[in-house]
Amino acid sequence: MVYNWQHLFFPPRCLICGQAGEDELDICGNCRAGLPRIRSSCHCCALPLPPGSPSGILCGTCASKPPAFSHILAPWLYEAPVDDLIQQLKFQQKLPAGRLLAQLLAGELRQREAPSLLVPVPLYNTQLKKRGFNHSSEIARVLSRELSIPWSPWLLHKVRETRPQHNLGKRERKQNLRRCFSFDNKDNHRHVAVVDDVVTTTTTAAEVAKTLQRAGVEKVEVWALARTPMNR
Ligand SMILES: [Zn+2]
Ligand SMILES: [Zn+2]
Repeated sequence: MVYNWQHLFFPPRCLICGQAGEDELDICGNCRAGLPRIRSSCHCCALPLPPGSPSGILCGTCASKPPAFSHILAPWLYEAPVDDLIQQLKFQQKLPAGRLLAQLLAGELRQREAPSLLVPVPLYNTQLKKRGFNHSSEIARVLSRELSIPWSPWLLHKVRETRPQHNLGKRERKQNLRRCFSFDNKDNHRHVAVVDDVVTTTTTAAEVAKTLQRAGVEKVEVWALARTPMNR
């Protein structure tokens, strides 16, 4: 990691317990070791599976119908303290919380074949104005810097407003998001990673993947901070 001169004046401090940070990150070794890592998950959609499940296994849903995306990568469960840090970023605009999680996520992704572009899951204009910023863009921006992969908040758009997904059934969720995104593939990208904060159901990931594929992208991965134990 590049030496950060800011650390002379603001040494890294753990955002969870307040102790000194380690490895120039705002997290101490103990809290880092205690993050709720997903140990066994579906090879495709990252759905948490019972401990001890073999690696490379697919959940029932992915086995019966392969989704449009190639993989979802999400290292942690949406549990304390990851959920709290994500909410600090999302609802209180605490950028250090997002920076820390994105730096940790970057550490998980360094060995992978790099996509040529990172795109954050977009918000619709009115939602963006109300919230003031797109938290997924913050994650993508830090990932881009850490992994030296270009990112753009301008190519993937949400073209219409949608209802909140959490109270909808599977079929309604799909209907709600159908054709709600558009992607401008002016540079002819073939391998793109979509950046999101939490994957709850895979409906958004699947709809974004279909949008990118219609624009000529062959491989769509989803990189997220956390996953909830729920299927699409
Ligand atoms: Zn700590
Ligand atoms: Zn799956």
